[in-house]
Amino acid sequence: MNIFQETENKMTKEKFKRDFKKKVEELSSEKLENSTTKFQYEALAQMVMENINPIWAENRRLNRINTDKQIYFFSIEFLIGRLLRLYINNLGWEDIVPDGLEELGLDYDNILACEHDPALGNGGLGRLMACFLDSAAALDFPAHGNGIRYKYGLFQQKIVNHEQVEVADNWLKHGYPFEIRQPEKSVVVKYGGNVRTEMVNGKLTFIHENYEPVLAVPYDVPVSGYHNKTVNSLRLWDAQPVDDFDLNAFNEGHFLKAVQSKSQAESISQVLYPSDHGFEGQLLRLKQEYFFVCAGLKRIVRRYKKQHQGSLDGFSDKICIHINDTHPAMCVPEFMRILVDEENYGWDEAWDMTVKSMSFTNHTVLPEALEKWPVDMMQNLLPRIYMIIEEINRRFLEEMNGKYPNEEARNYNISIIKDGQVHMAHLAIIGSHSVNGVAELHSKILREETFKDFYAIYPERFHNVTNGVSQRRFMMAANQELKNLICDTIGDKWTQPGQMEALKDLEKYASDSDFQKQLQGVKYHNKERLAKYIKEHLNVTVNPHSIFDIQVKRIHEYKRQLLNALHIMHVYNQLCANPNADFVPKTYIFAGKAAPSYYFAKQVIKLINVIADKINHDPLTKDKLSVVFIPNFNVSSAELIYPAAEISEQISTAGKEASGTGNMKFMMNGAVTLGTMDGANIEIAEHVGMDNIYTFGLSAEEVANYNHNGGYHSVDVLQQNPDLQKVMNQLIDGSLGGDTFHTIYDALVLNNDTYFVLKDFASYCDIQDQSSRDYLNHHSWQKKSIMNIANSGIFSSDRSIAEYQKDIWKIK
Ligand SMILES: *Cc1c(COP(=O)(O)O)cnc(C)c1O
Repeated sequence: MNIFQETENKMTKEKFKRDFKKKVEELSSEKLENSTTKFQYEALAQMVMENINPIWAENRRLNRINTDKQIYFFSIEFLIGRLLRLYINNLGWEDIVPDGLEELGLDYDNILACEHDPALGNGGLGRLMACFLDSAAALDFPAHGNGIRYKYGLFQQKIVNHEQVEVADNWLKHGYPFEIRQPEKSVVVKYGGNVRTEMVNGKLTFIHENYEPVLAVPYDVPVSGYHNKTVNSLRLWDAQPVDDFDLNAFNEGHFLKAVQSKSQAESISQVLYPSDHGFEGQLLRLKQEYFFVCAGLKRIVRRYKKQHQGSLDGFSDKICIHINDTHPAMCVPEFMRILVDEENYGWDEAWDMTVKSMSFTNHTVLPEALEKWPVDMMQNLLPRIYMIIEEINRRFLEEMNGKYPNEEARNYNISIIKDGQVHMAHLAIIGSHSVNGVAELHSKILREETFKDFYAIYPERFHNVTNGVSQRRFMMAANQELKNLICDTIGDKWTQPGQMEALKDLEKYASDSDFQKQLQGVKYHNKERLAKYIKEHLNVTVNPHSIFDIQVKRIHEYKRQLLNALHIMHVYNQLCANPNADFVPKTYIFAGKAAPSYYFAKQVIKLINVIADKINHDPLTKDKLSVVFIPNFNVSSAELIYPAAEISEQISTAGKEASGTGNMKFMMNGAVTLGTMDGANIEIAEHVGMDNIYTFGLSAEEVANYNHNGGYHSVDVLQQNPDLQKVMNQLIDGSLGGDTFHTIYDALVLNNDTYFVLKDFASYCDIQDQSSRDYLNHHSWQKKSIMNIANSGIFSSDRSIAEYQKDIWKIK
């Protein structure tokens, strides 16, 4: 009996209502009418899991016996967001559940809001992994995630007196209904100690002793495909002491010591490091990196051996280990350790298997983000891993010096170990058969600058796969009204996995005034929905007839929220000087978290909130200009924000943003990009055409030129621009309600403006003005919006996954 047939027993609305009522009443021991939303949420979550579980089990059974290649994403972050609605849509219940609940007198959105949004990532990098898992499952394709089950996710952000305050995110407090603990699959991870060698049967053997063992316990979260029968797994590892108490210490009366070792073990999965694009060389972080690498590989190897008569032969034909940024780069030496120390492969054969199994995605070219671990730290914490890295490096340099004897400087430059540090990106490149960047420009910068010495040696390893996002989450679910409008207009082919490029058919309607009106109506509803949220959470009234101009993403100097803020100050100055001049009403919306230790970024948050306060309280600006900072940007608030946008701010210093994915989410919801020629903005421009995007500012080449050859003096720019002078003075002269922003002023004026904010200010003002003027012509604005939606299909993560599949993992 095929379990799939059994579950084909279609859910109907009547059955759903019956089952749901029964479940709520069982759980809450109340009549449905008297039950709380919390119990209704739990009942719905349980029903969903009961329906996914048998399909999931069948998938795991099939994966054990079939011989398809399996992909494992190793990533220190998976920013999955809320899952309940996605599971419901994937099961094909998207009409049944909301209607059924409504007939029972309940509100679907209220129930969904009970789910604590799991914030197991900082931003783009972690969100990309979640989108990739979603797409792989939608495309019926066995790809799984492997990461850490942080007890505390990314901090929650509150704004108090205009400043960011961090609050711990205790997301597991009330339990999590979508995970299954698998204690029987626990493994031991070993830290510290020493390595002794011994000849055993004529073979040099490495014995790791006196180590501290930590237990890794897996929790699996199902990853379901869209309207299909695929359910893959996201495996998140929890750290536990090997025995609950160190019994020896306990018996000897060292109670506190025993408890301490428990909490030391648990600390490994205690908290997500809250910094994106910044490297902190903390010992605990290094422990985390080895933790999920070691635990994940152990289970994969064990499973493979079970399927292949106890042998790892042929591993690289059947398993792809994908290294998401450098945090899991220790997959390379750890897999070598397994092959050489445990499975008795010779070094050369083991190395060949390792390189063939590993592929690596780089996510940034910012120098402060490159991971470099001190040699002694790694040697002490992971003595055998460090020995293997040394040997990989020794052999690599030997080969390079043999092949390129005249390239001594270059050969040193590309070493894994140099200047007392282990360079994780070098380890990942040398140990993988594929290295890719995440947008065309980014991949070019990797080839020509960041990794040019590696590109000279291994040109065939370098690829580009432009990022993508899940349209199922960020458009079809977050903007259902738009989805329905498009389906009514061109049919639903584009909603099928891998088919989003069928949206191109919408181009035929770009100038159709009926369609334009309907689209405008959808956008207006989404703006009203966001305005309501802003009113409820911030008690600020925004005018839904104004342009919604939105910049939401992590706060970072290179992303230049500061440029946006300075421009708003300038607009406000103009409005004050000339209150009766024509003005196109505008609402500027920001959201994003700053790393808690990133003082400059926190000053930018403060500046935005100070400006917002001043402008929103000035009667002069009423219905014309408002500024909002929405606290605690996360996947859930993102789903409300992207659909309401008309202008998508993507204004990073050219050459600094690897790809961006927010830009894609805005675009598929009909916002027009206003941005620099950076990251995937360039590809967006290529696909929508220059009439349907606003670009400004220095190019990546110009920025690189200034950086290499000098010639930029921010003071000169300031001297030539009185409007800018006025704004800059306001930062320090007390006009902002007495607050001053000397750090910001000094960075731009005294330290010559590393991110070219002042340099790009004038062209940014021009393009802002132009977009406001264009907005007044509704017909041409709607046309731009439609052209953006129609050409967004290529930015689906379904397309990214298909490219990885074809070019990197090589799966049929
Ligand atoms: C998409 C997304 C990001 C990445 O946004 P960028 O604009 O590409 O930096 C960050 N955080 C959340 C919650 C997102 O959904």
